[in-house]
Amino acid sequence: MNDDTRHDFQEHRAAGSLPVSETVAGAILTIDLGAIRENYRRLKARLNSVRCAGVLKANGYGLGALPVASALMKEGCDIFFVALLGEGLALRKAIGPGPDIFVLNGLPPGSEAETAAAGLLPVINSALQLKAWRETARAAGRNLPAAIQVDSGMARLGMAATEVAAIVGEADTFEGVDIRFVMSHLARADEPHEAANEAQRLEFERLRKLLPSVPASLSNSSGIFLGPAYHYDLARPGAALYGVNPTPHEANPMLPVIQIHAKVAQTRAVEKGAGIGYGHTLLAQGPLRLATISFGYGDGWHRRAASAAWFEGVRLPFVGRVSMDSIILDISSLPAGTLSEGDLVELIGSSQSLDDAAGHAGTIGYEILTSLGPRFHRRYIEA
Ligand SMILES: *Cc1c(COP(=O)(O)O)cnc(C)c1O
Repeated sequence: MNDDTRHDFQEHRAAGSLPVSETVAGAILTIDLGAIRENYRRLKARLNSVRCAGVLKANGYGLGALPVASALMKEGCDIFFVALLGEGLALRKAIGPGPDIFVLNGLPPGSEAETAAAGLLPVINSALQLKAWRETARAAGRNLPAAIQVDSGMARLGMAATEVAAIVGEADTFEGVDIRFVMSHLARADEPHEAANEAQRLEFERLRKLLPSVPASLSNSSGIFLGPAYHYDLARPGAALYGVNPTPHEANPMLPVIQIHAKVAQTRAVEKGAGIGYGHTLLAQGPLRLATISFGYGDGWHRRAASAAWFEGVRLPFVGRVSMDSIILDISSLPAGTLSEGDLVELIGSSQSLDDAAGHAGTIGYEILTSLGPRFHRRYIEA
């Protein structure tokens, strides 16, 4: 097995299926690990000497936590964040000891011993979790590392201001707990002109001063672009590494990471009046040439997406409904005979960016990435 097939195998096994060869797959997902590395370097350059973690939750935003972690480690990244303990356990097993793996969603009751045994670092989100971690440390007879998250104004995860005030009033609150970072998360970092950002930053300042003086972390991908005041000691980008634009109102400063190509399963010509696809939501207004591709909502492409595929820069609109395993394209604008069975058309790539595709589907790049299913042939490249 070469590196790529091994990645493939591990990722697909994790997704509950076997690797899919290019010959048998309906669609091909190309993941450029070189672009992920370059995106990491671009973020590092913005951060000057501030440290930069890699966020690998939801299987590295659907692209494979292990191959992404391996690529980032080659750039010197040694701090990772996942969302769930299960993700942390799998990642620890895959990458071994060494890099810090923080678990964003905290410490579920009963999971403390397993978290400690795997050398994972919980993001402590409540006083209850802090107490449980302190007791785990006492039982283990050693200090246990963690991050403390405070809610600076998102009401999602982290200790509320009242909770912070309460714990710091107690003796021995942090006994046995090695606090590596105090962190918080921004609700509107992708809207640089919103006053909510500065309000959260100031509240973060206030809360962290109540806590032991340790390094701080506030920014996700978009937060990095709010300027140095938001950088603190550690940034936590996810989406920007994977090519999602962290500055949605400006040109994308990141390199694209993924491409999606789907195979033509069949072509046909239809006459005026032909009913096209489920529900006959489209009746041909004249003769049309069509291509059906082996790709659909079963692969994570939104059924409601009013969208198009592309071939050599020519837009091929979807016609009729998106099916589970197929989509019908209007290829009338291509010279007859241009496309035949087995040819590939582009869904995401040089003609249609991830963010554009997300916009057409009424969603965000994050959701497109994490929706991509297990049926793709996944091709890892280092361009
Ligand atoms: C998901 C997440 C990140 C990464 O966010 P991106 O917008 O993908 O960069 C950072 N911190 C926390 C707490 C998160 O939940």
